[in-house]
Amino acid sequence: MLLLALGEEYLTKDEAVRLFFKNGERVVEHAIRLDDAARRLVEKAYGSSVAPDQTVIVGTKEDRVVAYAMIVSEITKTLPMTFIVGVDPAGTVIEVAVMRHEEHIGTDCAKRRFLRQFDGKRPTDRLRMGTSYQPVSGATLSCNAVARGTRKVLAIIQHHFLDRPDHVKALLQEEPIRRQRYIMGSICTITAYGDRAAVEKAFDAIQSVDAALSNYRDDSDLARLHRDRSIQAKPELLAFVSGSLAFSERTEGAFDITTGPLVRLWGFHDGKHRVPSDEEIAAALARVGWRKIRVEKDTVTLPEGVELDPGAIGKGIGVDRAAEALKNAGIARALVDFGSSARAIGEWTLGIRDPFDTDRILGHVTLRDESISTSGGYEKFFEQDGRRYAHILNPQTGRPVEGVASVSVITPTATESDALSTAAFVLQRIPDKVEGLLVPEKGEPVVTDGWKRRFREEKK
Ligand code: ADP
Ligand code: MG
Repeated sequence: MLLLALGEEYLTKDEAVRLFFKNGERVVEHAIRLDDAARRLVEKAYGSSVAPDQTVIVGTKEDRVVAYAMIVSEITKTLPMTFIVGVDPAGTVIEVAVMRHEEHIGTDCAKRRFLRQFDGKRPTDRLRMGTSYQPVSGATLSCNAVARGTRKVLAIIQHHFLDRPDHVKALLQEEPIRRQRYIMGSICTITAYGDRAAVEKAFDAIQSVDAALSNYRDDSDLARLHRDRSIQAKPELLAFVSGSLAFSERTEGAFDITTGPLVRLWGFHDGKHRVPSDEEIAAALARVGWRKIRVEKDTVTLPEGVELDPGAIGKGIGVDRAAEALKNAGIARALVDFGSSARAIGEWTLGIRDPFDTDRILGHVTLRDESISTSGGYEKFFEQDGRRYAHILNPQTGRPVEGVASVSVITPTATESDALSTAAFVLQRIPDKVEGLLVPEKGEPVVTDGWKRRFREEKK
């Protein structure tokens, strides 16, 4: 590969970055994800498809952005050319500088004489050859590559940042705010680049899910359903019931919110654990089965004896409501962490606990606008006569699931990940179209390809 060695390096990354930022400025590399609308506009300007995940270097000083810069690679003839495009806070090009050119021809486009034609260009200039810039003769392909990459950068800065003041605001906030509340029997932590009022609204959203679904208070919509057996359900309860039925269908009944009588029988609802007799299990099982639930329009009906337990999905629903509230408040980066279920807005890296030694971490998983839930046998269990009984029950047998130490799954929403981590625990495998990690009590952990891509193992 002698040809490759002929490539020329003009600027290192440090030298390139130095063109746009001064000593003492706060300069941060931000991983951003273009939303669908922004991505379409960027693709239109660029002329072909653009990955949603991009990195932008942003310099800030006090309460303003001083410059944006992106390092881009574009194919010239057959090999790539790498260059940096600096953009001012109003969205115009400060300067374009070539960092590396692999092709041994067309190098004249790396010279200032050519590149200065791009100074001061705006997204609306469209950068067409002949009208916006003149190529260097004999280097047309390389010159066009510069124009193409510059159009992409201008469009990304315009549509991801300048059209979205909330995204710019998030860049300026040095430290996120962090607040905690005790809801649904667990501590929920919200970390957000945004204001306190938005975070309070997010907690209120979780609180209203709790008010509808709690089976520990007698004024909840769920308590009303248990009392009256057939009610016109409010949206929260209706979403919980119909969403849960869909997960039961999808997991062949491994996920089943009618396990309430079994949860009670084994004492998992109040901590008064005991191993019931076979007769007791059979009697409780007669009251279990998701197909017993009737939903017609907004009316939910339960036969006598059937009880619903939101334990395996309620926190996920709460996390999603909180995330919606944060997004509606214009927050571009936040983490809603309910312990066993969490949802990332923007990019976040989370530790995954070792189920055999919960003080240790197996590794870190990076999420971008995704949710994760973990169901662990170590979370809630009791031991009797040398046997361990976990709080997740097999709705078919009426007994605690054995054989799984923990399972984590990644899905777009936390409602999904919460329901499906519980289902995966029962099924003892990761459901289709879901990324995850399953740690059996004995034997090797199982991971999906998508999990591997997001996961970095902790060195022992
Ligand atoms: P965590 O409570 O740590 O979030 P899960 O989301 O896995 O863990 O939920 C477990 C809870 O769900 C149990 O405590 C119980 O209330 C309920 N449950 C147990 N087995 C099932 C099941 N097969 N399907 C649905 N819910 C279940
Ligand atoms: Mg769950």
